[in-house]
Amino acid sequence: MGIANGSMGSRVTWAFADRTSGASSEPFALGNLADHVGDDPAAVLANRATLAGSLGLSLDHLVAMAPVHGREVGVVDSQTVSPVLGVDALVTASPDLGLLVVAADCVPLLLGDPSAGVVAAVHAGWRGVEADVVGATLEVMQDLGAVLTNVSAVVGPAICGQCYEVEHDRYEAVTARAPHAASVTRTGGLGLDLRSAVSERLEQVGIDVETWGECTYESPRFYSFRRDPQTGRHGGLIALSGSADADSADSGLGVAHHG
Ligand SMILES: [Zn+2]
Repeated sequence: MGIANGSMGSRVTWAFADRTSGASSEPFALGNLADHVGDDPAAVLANRATLAGSLGLSLDHLVAMAPVHGREVGVVDSQTVSPVLGVDALVTASPDLGLLVVAADCVPLLLGDPSAGVVAAVHAGWRGVEADVVGATLEVMQDLGAVLTNVSAVVGPAICGQCYEVEHDRYEAVTARAPHAASVTRTGGLGLDLRSAVSERLEQVGIDVETWGECTYESPRFYSFRRDPQTGRHGGLIALSGSADADSADSGLGVAHHG
């Protein structure tokens, strides 16, 4: 996998990977991160270990989800069993957990508030945009102490609005919620630009958005479900590192001792 690593402040690190290297064979070659598509489980684990390792994490600190194209958000900690079922977003305030999102045309989104120490990984397809899974995730992050203007976002690779042609009903449903999703395809049809929709939702509330990776349908370095119905998933990972404030937190507990 070609892996891009980045950070948000001093406590949040993230990675996005493409498919260009790894342990998987065709039709999942090479860097498939999904365990639900029929790939060799050992290859998937090896690829996930490579991605986790890029953030200094071991495989047993990685938490995945089984998305259902809804707006449910899972709050996870070190006790959470992976994968978390029935959610399209994972949020944690626990350090040293890697939250994994995988996709092949849908939008993988990573969010972090390094000041509050809260991170999230989100999966947003057209149903997720229509259901505002991004907004649902931000609400849960705020419940855990995040402040929207301190949140940074990295939007990963997804199918673009010139490639993603949809039926009229779907177009209407999604653009009613997210006007910036409206697009025209290369052939003049109704298109949806899901990355633009996700970015718009974040920028509305003052969040800085960075974009990584190109159109999945056009670029052979990414998986595309629309291009290749039997295929793998690329993905992103985000983690909160052990707090630089751990010492003060400990001393805070010390103050509360009973003498
Ligand atoms: Zn495209």
